Amino acid sequence: MDIDKSIPIGSEEYNEEPVYFCAHCLSLAIKDVGIGYCCLDCGSTSIAHASIEKYDELHKAKYGKKKFYK
Ligand SMILES: [Zn+2]
Repeated sequence: MDIDKSIPIGSEEYNEEPVYFCAHCLSLAIKDVGIGYCCLDCGSTSIAHASIEKYDELHKAKYGKKKFYK
């Protein structure tokens, strides 16, 4: 599944949609490999999902900046 294209950026529904991301490196590049989902960046199969706001909090805690909201 292609997360970047499946979520319409800019719509009001965007904030309500959970994002799926790698629990290890927080990458949004998640690929369905048949037996489950796999992170394309680090290869982890630990996939988490959360609201955009929660993801931003995690991203800021890990990388020092938010991904979606400034
Ligand atoms: Zn990863």
